[in-house]
Amino acid sequence: MANAILVINAGSSSLKFSVFGIPRAGELRMLVVGQVEGLGTAPRLKAKNGEGTILADVRWATAEVANHAQALQEIATLLRSRSEGLELVGVGHRVVHGGADYSAPLLITAPAMENLAAFVPLAPLHQPHNLAAIRAVQEVRPDLPQVACFDTAFHRTQEMVADLYGLPYEYYERGIRRYGFHGLSYEYIAATLPSVAPEIANGRVVVAHLGSGASMCAMRDGRSVGSSMGFTALDGLMMGTRPGNMDPGIVLYLLQQEGLSAKQIEDLLYKRSGLLGLSGIGNDMRVLLASDAPRARLAIELFVYRISRELGALAAVLGGLDALVFTAGIGENSARIRQLVCEKARWLGVELDEAANEQGGPCLSGVGSRVSAWVVPTNEELMIARHTRTLLGR
Ligand code: ADP
Repeated sequence: MANAILVINAGSSSLKFSVFGIPRAGELRMLVVGQVEGLGTAPRLKAKNGEGTILADVRWATAEVANHAQALQEIATLLRSRSEGLELVGVGHRVVHGGADYSAPLLITAPAMENLAAFVPLAPLHQPHNLAAIRAVQEVRPDLPQVACFDTAFHRTQEMVADLYGLPYEYYERGIRRYGFHGLSYEYIAATLPSVAPEIANGRVVVAHLGSGASMCAMRDGRSVGSSMGFTALDGLMMGTRPGNMDPGIVLYLLQQEGLSAKQIEDLLYKRSGLLGLSGIGNDMRVLLASDAPRARLAIELFVYRISRELGALAAVLGGLDALVFTAGIGENSARIRQLVCEKARWLGVELDEAANEQGGPCLSGVGSRVSAWVVPTNEELMIARHTRTLLGR
C-alpha cells in the first residue's frame, strides 16, 4: 500500500483538505484536493483528483454536517471510497498562530495542544477552528500522528526591532508583538526561488502574497526580515474584506463616538471593509476589474497604492531591492494588478516586460531591469505536507 499524508486547513466555516502520496524518493504528489464549505449554513463537499476529475460534489441540510468533526467524517468516508490502496500515515494542519516561540512545525502531543490553546486569544477567529480539526482527527484516528504548521513561524527570524510596537515594554512581554502571517506561503516561495529564479534566491526580495487576504514579506537570503502583517492579520495591505493598516484612533472613535461594540468593530474590520467595503460591489478582484463603477476603480487604486507604499517601506528595511515576487490568487492571475504595481515601482528600478507579464512570467521584467519582477505560484498545502513528511521521518 502506498503511504499518504492528509493536509487540513480549517477555517471558521470551511475545511479544506488535500491528500499527498509519498513516493519512495522525490517530491510528494497531490492526489486529492477538496473542501467542505458552508458549515453552519449550506454545507457542501467538493473534491477532485490530481488530474482535475471531479470525485465528489455533495450538498447537505445545515444540521446534517454542522461542524468540523462531522465534516471530517464525510471527508474520511470519501477518502476511504476513493483512495483504495492508500494508507494515511499522518496529518498536517495549518495552524495560524504559533506564538512568539514556535519557529518550526510541531508534532502534536497533549502538552503541545495546551500550548496552542493559549494562543486562541491572539487569533480568536482562526485558532479555535484549527485546533478543533486536530481534535476531530484525534477522535476518529487517535493512532495517526499530527503535525501543526504555523503561519507565524517563518517570521521568527526577524530582529526584535521588527517585532516591537511602540507601546510600554510590558505589552511586548505580554505578547503584543508583530507576529506576521502567510508564513507557509512565504516559506514555499523561499524554497522555490533557488530553482525558478536562482539569481535572486539569496538576494533582497519582497514577496507580495495577494489573495483574499494579502500581505508582503521582505526576505534576505530566503529568510523573513520584515512583514506587513503584525499582531493580527488585519495589519498592512488593504484586502478583500479587511482595511489593512489604519490609525488605531479610528477604533477608539468608533467605540467612543459612534457607539459600536467590540463585536461590531470586529465584524467591520474583518468582514465588511477592504475591496468589498470601498467598492460596495464585492471582494472578488475579477469582478472589480471588470466593473466601470467609480468606487470599484477607487478600491483598485487604493489596493495598488497600499502595495506600493508597503513595497517602499520593505525595500527600506532591506536597504535596497533585488526582486519583487507576486503570488496567490491576485498576484498569480491578474496581469493588470501586477502591471499597476510595477508601474508604481519604477522608481525602485522595476522595468516591466508587458508581453512577459501578459503571459504570466515567471520572469516579468525586461533584460535591463535593475530590479527583477516574478510570478511564483504558491502552494501552502505542499509546504505543510513536506513539513509533515520530514517530521514523521517518511
Ligand atoms: P485565499 O486562499 O486567501 O482565499 P486566493 O489566493 O485564492 O485567496 O485568492 C483569491 C483572490 O484571487 C480573489 O480576490 C479573486 O478575485 C482573485 N483572483 C483569482 N483569479 C483572478 C484573476 N484572474 N484576476 C484577478 N483576481 C483574481
